[in-house]
Amino acid sequence: MPELPEVEALAAYLRERAVGHTVQRFEVSSFSALKTYDPPASAVAGLELTSAGRHGKFLDIGLGPDLHLVVHLARAGWLHYRDGFKSPAPLKPGSGPIAIRVRLDDESGFDLTEAGTQKSLAAYLVRDPAEVPGVSRLGPDALAVSRDEFAARIKSRNGQVKGVIVDQEVLAGIGNAYSDEILHAAKMSPFALTGKLTDEQITTLYEAMREVEQDAVARSVGQKAAELKGEKRAGLRVHARTGLPCPVCGDTVREVSFADKSLQYCATCQTGGKPLADRRLSKLIR
Ligand SMILES: [Zn+2]
Repeated sequence: MPELPEVEALAAYLRERAVGHTVQRFEVSSFSALKTYDPPASAVAGLELTSAGRHGKFLDIGLGPDLHLVVHLARAGWLHYRDGFKSPAPLKPGSGPIAIRVRLDDESGFDLTEAGTQKSLAAYLVRDPAEVPGVSRLGPDALAVSRDEFAARIKSRNGQVKGVIVDQEVLAGIGNAYSDEILHAAKMSPFALTGKLTDEQITTLYEAMREVEQDAVARSVGQKAAELKGEKRAGLRVHARTGLPCPVCGDTVREVSFADKSLQYCATCQTGGKPLADRRLSKLIR
């Protein structure tokens, strides 16, 4: 799933490549992806692409004087920039992975795509990004929050730290991959309870969050969208590295599986050498 660094890099790429160009055609191929109907999709053609930014993991593309295309890429969504399109023909409804195509006046443009059968990419055409429910509920951005506000946000939810830091209402921008990386950098168990963290542990967690997210942004911005995923993978220390050695201590990276996702961690670095119980397995035994 694209998180803060990838969405930031996509926005940076659009600022460099697309801002200043006029939308020639705005095509919606997956009608379930566009969640709004007023203003209509037909209002976009002829508008200049004026800005590109993000709110947490939401991409925000400014159109004309007062419209925004706000996109949540969900798990398998992506933005593919095209220097040209093979065919001038309009997209047919339900065109495979392409949900929305934006053609610009220089013949370039981009596709918002979603792989797989579970379609959860969500796009909103709004006058104010705050009209998007997920945006209005966002907590402070992980890269903008101060240490004290971070402490207050973390303490506002008593739960396992992994779940709390990926809660977008607590902090905006962190997802499953970088939360594994942040907890590894902080040498903290994903199941540590936020209510029991000391001030020192919170400071360590805050600094790890800033370091991991800033490093990932620095690696990602400047990459072409097509290369971003490889760049993300190359920078990870524990996430999606089950069975491989921890680059810090050499212990084997372990995994805890849940019904629909998994987390990775290093027992030596994070849990005093003690492996965490596999949640899927412990359910079976019970
Ligand atoms: Zn380790």
